[in-house]
Order: sequence, then structure tokens, then C-alpha cells
Amino acid sequence: MSKINMKTPLVEMDGDEMTRILWQQIKEELLEPYVELKTKYYDLGLPNREATGDQVTVDAAQATKKYGVAVKCATITPNAQRVEEYKLSQMWKSPNGTIRAILDGTVFRAPIMVNGISPVVKNWKQPITIARHAFGDVYKATEYRVTGPGKAELVFTAADGTEHRQTIQDFQGPGVLQGQFNLDRSITSFARSCFQYALDTKQDLWFSTKDTISKQYDHTFKDIFADLYEKEYKARFQEKGITYFYTLIDDAVARVIRSQGGFIWACKNYDGDVMSDMVSTAFGSLAMMTSVLVSPEGNYEYEAAHGTVTQHYYRYLKGEQVSTNPMATLFAWTGALAKRGELDDIPELTAFAQKLERAAIDTIESGVMTGDLAGLWEGEKPAQKVTGLEFLRAIRTRI
Ligand code: NAP
Ligand code: MG
Repeated sequence: MSKINMKTPLVEMDGDEMTRILWQQIKEELLEPYVELKTKYYDLGLPNREATGDQVTVDAAQATKKYGVAVKCATITPNAQRVEEYKLSQMWKSPNGTIRAILDGTVFRAPIMVNGISPVVKNWKQPITIARHAFGDVYKATEYRVTGPGKAELVFTAADGTEHRQTIQDFQGPGVLQGQFNLDRSITSFARSCFQYALDTKQDLWFSTKDTISKQYDHTFKDIFADLYEKEYKARFQEKGITYFYTLIDDAVARVIRSQGGFIWACKNYDGDVMSDMVSTAFGSLAMMTSVLVSPEGNYEYEAAHGTVTQHYYRYLKGEQVSTNPMATLFAWTGALAKRGELDDIPELTAFAQKLERAAIDTIESGVMTGDLAGLWEGEKPAQKVTGLEFLRAIRTRI
């Protein structure tokens, strides 16, 4: 059988620990036998970030801007314990944070659904994708602990020196204060990423805020989305037969629970933080959650939503058999390959990625799965629990 050829290389970002092991196994077992893989390889494993002074992360993000599609393995975000463990010269920043700062854009998280593992919410039949605005609001707020009586004011000094002043509260005793902001530029790029992703995946887009209470702040989000939709996206949405729908966050929560799924739910930063954990937990397993960063310029970075699965890695190093689920990492690869096929007009590459996803889902549905899923399995015959590598080989047999 001849291998499928690629045109433009994928930006490949290797990572750490157990997911680094799976990364190699996925390539060897399921990709290299079928595809003449063309990648620009960046080793984002912690030892190489240390060796390059984290330049490798910046280079990988720049390459993503150049080539358009990246696939990333989970990476360690160092804390004090990791500085010790890896003898680091400094506590390097989160690679995902660095990449997001360079590419801008929005992270979309969606569960991989299989028959035999049902969501906690029984009417959810299709995935719900959460799009979280990852900039500003409470995450960049300025806070103050008021200890006694006094007047709190909101003061804005314009560049020309004019002052705008509003009383927030006349404090009679202790309390708390917080100042939040966001930028039209960031909200616009968030909206653009959401509209683009809805078009790409042919799904309806929902957006929710609390504009009835927050008449300036949240209302600005609502207006920016609405303007952009009217001016640039409405016609294309109609062409694809999808809709854009705005509603209040509390109404959205109720509708999401009653829905069948199959749409994108765009959320402000805090709402997205909270709701993505709720939705992902309700769908079953962190190991079945995919994630893609979509930049407003149309660059894509695919990854798993979970981390490097450290506890499994330590057991693996001791020679124990570990049953780590490679699904989300595999789907990062298939997502990236399918996108590359679409952009470069290589239909057989996109078709291969889709077949690989189907074979992986079929493998689980046949009762063969890793330990994290075996515990959730509701199929008729008992689950056959396998290691990550055995699972990949079972997919290969099927493909
Ligand atoms: P984690 O790696 O996601 O693992 C947490 C637990 O979730 C695991 O111990 C395991 O539970 C379960 N799990 C996650 N993925 C699994 C999989 N594929 N198969 C089976 N079980 C899975 O999170 P963490 O332990 O908090 O973080 C570990 C490292 O990852 C940290 O250094 C962190 O900085 C990094 N991290 C990176 C990213 C990223 O690159 N995007 C994201 C998050 C965290 P059991 O042990 O119960 O089996
Ligand atoms: Mg959170």
C-alpha cells in the first residue's frame, strides 16, 4: 500500500511524561505506516525548554503562524516542585499561555462521544463544544479590601486629561472592591474565532452573558458579537444552514441541560472556566476531551484537554503496566491532519483521519478500552481493559 503524501508540514510540538510516550506510540502504530508524515518538529518537553531558555516554545508558536496548523502534546507547567525535579534555572511559564499570547484566539473544547458510555445528562446525544474567552475580566482584575468607612469611585482619565468619575459605593464599614476590564480588540477576535469555528464545524453558535444586569460591560460583548455577525457572517451562516443565537447566561444554562447537544457555546472568561468543567465532567472522562485553539487569522493548534498524566508516568518508569487513554491525543493528530488535508486539498488525508477516528471509536464500542473508561462502561459484555499501547494496536487491527 502506498502512503498518503502531505504538502505543507504540520507543526509538531512534543511534550512531557506519559503523553510523550503515547505521542511516539501513536506516530509509530497509527500514523507513520499510512502517511508520509511531514512535520516541523519542536520539542516542548521540559528539558528542552530549559536548554533553549524556552525559545523553543516561541519558535513553535511562530511556526504555527507560518504554516497554519499545529498539533501539541501535553506539557508540564512548572511549579516549585518541578523546578526541583528537573533542576530548572527558572520557573518557565505555561507553554499554552505563551502560545496563546502569540497566536491570540479562543480555545474550543469538545468531548468524544461513544456508545456504551453515556453522559450524565441523558438527553445529550451530540457533543457540546465550549468556547471560552481567555482574556481579561476577573482574571486581570484589580482588587481592594476596604477596611472601614470611605467612598469608592471609578475614575477614568482620558489621554487628553479629561476625567470621568462615578461613585461605586459610600462604604459605612468594611467591604470589598474590584475593577475589571476587557478590550474591544480582544472581544472582537473572540467573536471572530467563534464564528469561524461554527462555520468550519457546521454547528450552531450560542453566546451568553448577563447584559440585562451589566448594561455597559456585558452589553458591549453582546453588541460586538451582533455587529460582526450582521456585517460579516450572517450570509455565510445562512449558506451553511447554521444559526447564531444570543441569550442570557442563566437561560443558556437551562437550555443547555435540556438540549440534545450538537452546538458551540461561547462563554465569557469566568463562565467558560466554570461551564467547561461542568460540561466535560457530565460527558464522562477528561481523557475523552479534545481541545483546539483557533486564532482570528485562522491558525489552528490541536491538543488533548488533559495534562501529562504524571501519576501514570511514575508507575510506567517503575516498569508497571499502565492503562493511559490515548484518545484525546490521537484526536489532536487526526484533527490536525484532517485540517491540513482540507487546507491543502488532499481529500485522502482528511478521509484517513476520519477513518482513524472511526476505528478508535469502534474499538471502544467493541468493548476494548483503557481503565479510565472501563469504569464508566455500560455495554452488554464486560469491558476488556488494556494498556494504552494495546489499545492503539487494537485500533490498528481495525483500520
Ligand atoms: P492530568 O495529567 O490531566 O491527570 C490528572 C488525572 O486525570 C490523572 O492522574 C488520571 O487519573 C486522569 N487522566 C488524565 N488524563 C488521562 C488519560 N489520558 N488516561 C487516563 N487517565 C487520565 O493532570 P495533572 O496530574 O493535574 O497534571 C499533570 C501535569 O500536566 C502537570 O505538570 C500540569 O502542569 C500538566 N498539564 C498540562 C496541560 C496541557 O499541556 N494542556 C493541561 C493540564 C495539565 P488517575 O490517576 O486517577 O488514573
Ligand atoms: Mg477551571
